[in-house]
This record gives sequence, C-alpha cells and structure tokens, in this order.
Amino acid sequence: MPDPVVVVIEDEPQIRKFLRATLEGQGYRLFEASTGADGVVEIGSRQPDVVIVDLGLPDMDGLEVIRRVREWTAVPVIVLSARGQERDKVTALDAGADDYMSKPFGAGELLARVRVALRHTAGASHEGDDTVFVVGGLRVDLLHRQVQVDGKEIHLTPIEYRLLTTLVHYAGKVVTHQHLLREVWGPSHTEQAHYARVYMAHLRHKLEVEPARPRYLLTEPGVGYRLAAE
Ligand code: CA
Repeated sequence: MPDPVVVVIEDEPQIRKFLRATLEGQGYRLFEASTGADGVVEIGSRQPDVVIVDLGLPDMDGLEVIRRVREWTAVPVIVLSARGQERDKVTALDAGADDYMSKPFGAGELLARVRVALRHTAGASHEGDDTVFVVGGLRVDLLHRQVQVDGKEIHLTPIEYRLLTTLVHYAGKVVTHQHLLREVWGPSHTEQAHYARVYMAHLRHKLEVEPARPRYLLTEPGVGYRLAAE
C-alpha cells in the first residue's frame, strides 16, 4: 500500500511545521496550503486519504472548505479549532467534518485521530468483516450481541446496547448528542439530550471500572461522546 496522503490547510506556520514533522515522521506524505482556496485545489489534485483543516483561515471559513469539499468527495476531514469553541465543533461536524482536535494538541492525539480516520476509510470498502470490537478489556460481539468486560459477560438493556453499538460503529470518532439521539431514540428525540446523559451513566456503571473516570466511554464536553478505539 502506498504511503497515505494528507492535505493540511492551516495558516499558522508553526502548526504546519508541527504537523509536517509528526506526520512525515510516521511515513505520511504531506501537502500544505495556507488558505482555503489553495486547500480546495490541493484536495482536488492530490486525492488525499485524510484532510486536516483549520477553522480560522485568512480567506474563508474552514466550514466553507468542508462544504465545498463535500460536494465531490467523502475523504475524512479532521478540523482544528481553538479550545472551548464547542459550537464551532458541532457546526463543523454537521457540515461534514469527521472529527476535530482542539489546539493545542500533541503528537499522540494527532496520530491517533489520523489512524482512526484512515481506519474508517479502509473499513468502508469491506463493511461487515468486523463483527467483534475490542478495546482494552471491553469486547463487543455484534453478531452474537454479547458484551464482555475483562472476560465477564455484561447484560445490557436494549437501549443501552443500541447506544453502545452506535458508538462502536463510530469508534474513535466523536458522535454528537443529536446524532446519538437520532440513531438510538429516533428523529423525534433529537432535543432530549438528557436521555443520552442518563443512559450513558448506566452504561458506564456497567462497563467502566471507574465510572467517574471512564476509560472507554469518553465525554466530549458540549459536543457528544467518543468510544475509545485504542
Ligand atoms: Ca488559523
């Protein structure tokens, strides 16, 4: 398999430099743009496997880049945003971004996000192969509808199970409250954010060693939840 290609659209030279050092060190091929317009051209010509785009660009909003790119490609898009801008993150996910990272971020987080993005691309071509999801001591057998923690079988209610399998489907990626509510409870319940909170608490009590400090079912403040993928 050829080296994965990443297009980075970011106007801050130090962050581009950090991305280049980190990603090239792991064998990724990197192409950079410092404006949204150049970035869209790069994506069109490089056919990347992953796109990383900053939300604050000099010529256009990063959201606009995502909307344009989504007109012709499903390439995974990871958004970079300033910490605390939860609304922007949700808007970016709604516009078609796959994930986001808050600045400042470290090399470990960056590489994990890119790996998850690539895994979802690869998974799309042979869907149905992965019937068992494993992370740490958590094992979810989707075929037999069995959930185990450290080898012990855990009994979940139908709603808890659906909540968990929805997160498994997007493992490693953030799932917004709205998205979760729509998939688990249906389109008429997207405003009932407390449903997700209550059932997530149940799930954590059953699956986590320390429910208050979850290892698997992670909270993304103001945005949603993320199931750890590694
Ligand atoms: Ca910027």
